[in-house]
Amino acid sequence: MARSEELFERAQKYIPGGVNSPVRAFGSVGMRPRFIAGADGAYMTDADGKTYLDFVGSWGPMILGHNRPEIRRAVAEASERGLSYGAATEVEVDMAEYLCSLVPSIEMVRMVNSGTEAVMSAVRAARGFTGRNKIVKFNGCYHGHSDGLLVKAGSGVMTAGVPGSAGVPAGCTEDTLTAVYNDLTSVEALFRANPGQIAAVIVEPVAANMGVVAPEAGFLPGLRKLCDENGSLLIFDEVITGFRLGIDGAQGYYGIRPDLTTFGKIIGAGMPVGAYGGRRDVMRVVSPVGTVYQAGTLSGNPVAMTAGLTQLRLLAEHPRWYRELNEKADRFFGRMEEMLLRRGLPYTVNRVGSLGCLFFTDAPVHNYDDASRADTEMFGRYCRFLFENGIYCAPSQFEAMFLSMAHTEEELDRTLETMDRFFAGI
Ligand SMILES: *Cc1c(COP(=O)(O)O)cnc(C)c1O
Repeated sequence: MARSEELFERAQKYIPGGVNSPVRAFGSVGMRPRFIAGADGAYMTDADGKTYLDFVGSWGPMILGHNRPEIRRAVAEASERGLSYGAATEVEVDMAEYLCSLVPSIEMVRMVNSGTEAVMSAVRAARGFTGRNKIVKFNGCYHGHSDGLLVKAGSGVMTAGVPGSAGVPAGCTEDTLTAVYNDLTSVEALFRANPGQIAAVIVEPVAANMGVVAPEAGFLPGLRKLCDENGSLLIFDEVITGFRLGIDGAQGYYGIRPDLTTFGKIIGAGMPVGAYGGRRDVMRVVSPVGTVYQAGTLSGNPVAMTAGLTQLRLLAEHPRWYRELNEKADRFFGRMEEMLLRRGLPYTVNRVGSLGCLFFTDAPVHNYDDASRADTEMFGRYCRFLFENGIYCAPSQFEAMFLSMAHTEEELDRTLETMDRFFAGI
């Protein structure tokens, strides 16, 4: 039996579904999980020694490619001084100061251990600051797996209904209102129906958990305006877009200043890190200065901070890298569109910067309903073909393809050739 098969048999006995996060299970594309033994640059190698060109990048963090020597060295050095102290350290101050210097809307920031925790805490701070309970989220946007946000939550939670998961009491989601992405009138209607009650609107400024859906012109400025008019806070969930579209995230890319922002993924360079921050007056409600309690035994962990800070410094010090990455991605997804056109296939390619998604649907995708029309059976065939040919893509139609600075033009050409061979055969 192959080593991966063996591991999967063992894993299923002791771990639900054999995986520690459902998106790793590959069930929706009729495959079994890949057990990864190592990764370097743009490649991952599984337990059987098979190597894949990786378009997941740990779901975003590995924007520089895997196993970057500068980060590995910094982590090794930091770990020699002990792994955790549960006390304040210099590297946390460095990290906070650096984040505030990189992202103009961040005046104060709190470090946490995941994107889920960052969003949960930001929502609590928004409620504490405004004294209001309700929040607005968008269908198909994912904000982590905390109870109140598991409503119409995109990729991982494909079953419809409210709440989007068993084990979440209806009481936990009754203050979560849902609107339609790219549809300001749906947000206006919620503000009209709930006057003076909405603490915050939370949005992925580029939706990247229902495939990739760009905000239409006017959508983000419209949200900013509606929040201002109604005394509500605007929260950008930049767990994916932060430090990906550019060093100042989607907010820099689109020129919108949110009140609060959440980070994850890239900010930890592959270590478990999240952060939430924003307006000083809002962040001052957080304990111990304010009355909103939020804590973490391992928050601001020195080894994790060192990894994240090293990656952020590399990115900030090489603005050219973003330009090159975004141009490379633009060529890649552009050629994918040309290929589909040439073959007379009506599928839709959505992309922003180094995030892209091939939707197996012939209509434009502007929101969750559009995305859910995609042919997931065809996506499954496509995904299996890519894997057979050494290309590791997210095993779901509703996930982004993540390009990294480690992908070369040759590797991207080879990927397009492989895709073209698939399309030739359908
Ligand atoms: C991944 C993600 C989260 C959750 O982060 P975790 O680190 O998995 O808890 C939240 N929001 C968005 C937009 C994400 O993509």
